Amino acid sequence: MSVLDQITNLLNKHHAQLVAVSKTYSPDRIKEIYDRGQRVFGENRVQEILEKKDLLPGDIQWHLIGHLQRNKVKYIAPFISLIHSVDSERLLREINRQAERSNRTIDILLQVFIAEEDTKHGLDEQELFALSETISQGEFQNIQCRGLMGMATYTENEDRVRAEFRKLKKIFDSLKKEYFNQSNFDTLSMGMSGDYKIALEEGSNMVRIGSLIFGKRN
Ligand SMILES: *Cc1c(COP(=O)(O)O)cnc(C)c1O
Repeated sequence: MSVLDQITNLLNKHHAQLVAVSKTYSPDRIKEIYDRGQRVFGENRVQEILEKKDLLPGDIQWHLIGHLQRNKVKYIAPFISLIHSVDSERLLREINRQAERSNRTIDILLQVFIAEEDTKHGLDEQELFALSETISQGEFQNIQCRGLMGMATYTENEDRVRAEFRKLKKIFDSLKKEYFNQSNFDTLSMGMSGDYKIALEEGSNMVRIGSLIFGKRN
């Protein structure tokens, strides 16, 4: 069985969705995975999505998983299917503005900082609750907050990774209860090539996997 099939089987058991992370891989390689049925692809740079998008089939759902600058939102607003990396109210405001200009509602996830490294982007718990409250008051008409995204610390220590994912799931559940009970707040994006099995065990329903599917990045 191929790696992609193995991943897909496990995801099915957990009712989880695969985002194939195609950053740095060529359109030809993406098309190979597409031809095997995959439709959701994730990139972390706006420029790279724009370059690849026009060379690939129109029914691909593109997800932005990397840090997003406000001045780049306008380029992806017309087509982006999910933005995983919302980490400020100012960014949210700009996404809402550009979504309105494109006559769309854009699905977003709030990125939560759960790892030990301080190099990773994301909201801390306090900022997350404050922003959720703002969103729940309904002023962002063209945005739908679908859930949370987080990255665990890059470490061999599985207990640590598991604890971080568990914490994110707990935050997800409490936010849903407190602020998003009546909405489609249903997506918990956590897990990558090295830790997706742990993430699934801890309640992830969307994993972002690149190198395991495409092979080692240069
Ligand atoms: C690159 C990346 C991934 C995928 O990483 P792999 O280790 O190749 O699976 C997942 N999430 C984010 C935010 C990334 O930047």
